[in-house]
Amino acid sequence: MKKTLIFVSIGLTLTLIVGIATFQYSRSWQNAFLINPIYKIATDEKLVALTFDDGPSQTRTPALLDLFNRHNVKATFFMLGENIEKYPDIAHAVYNQGHLVGNHSYNHPRLILKSPSFIRDQIKKTDLLIESLGQKEVIYFRPPYSSKYIVLPFVLQSLNKELVTGTYDPPSQYISPYNAQNVANEVIKSTKQGSIIYLHDGKDTDQEQFVESIELIIIGLKEKGYKFVRLDYEN
Ligand SMILES: [Zn+2]
Repeated sequence: MKKTLIFVSIGLTLTLIVGIATFQYSRSWQNAFLINPIYKIATDEKLVALTFDDGPSQTRTPALLDLFNRHNVKATFFMLGENIEKYPDIAHAVYNQGHLVGNHSYNHPRLILKSPSFIRDQIKKTDLLIESLGQKEVIYFRPPYSSKYIVLPFVLQSLNKELVTGTYDPPSQYISPYNAQNVANEVIKSTKQGSIIYLHDGKDTDQEQFVESIELIIIGLKEKGYKFVRLDYEN
């Protein structure tokens, strides 16, 4: 009886240690349990990928599309299924203008400790909506809050999908009121070869400052010799 208790205690302790270790390992954008996240574009050219999460929205997304048309820039949009349902015409316009659409779940839940069937539902429901825009395949998935512990990698593997994180997430974009110059300065200063930049078009607030920040980023990075690519860019 005493022996069994000792074995059970050792077993539980080991499970806890392994659990904490994998959690710590999975926290950074460069690592995930079981699979390698895409956190930058593999390139030796001056390329940068602008990515936009949580959209489409009623004001930021259309303004962004106009801007991209004027500057001839292509980007990647990680959409929420529920927002595609809310603004189907705007979501269509994103796809029709040559941008790549990725999956960011249906309604932005924290996926930590969720069951495989819950996660699979979130992904599949949104895939169907993205495919209804005309995009044949949905390969890229970016988890809400970048939380990718611990069931998600198994589900993504079984669905043949790529897990996407990123290289840089400008802190100023979370400060209200949104300051275009601050966000742009942070991004321009921190962009490196192959950077994947986190940005958000899912809100309707500060639309003018938001679009201005993206225009400043485009101008500033073009001056430094950068080209803008979608995540599916291949050298
Ligand atoms: Zn998000």
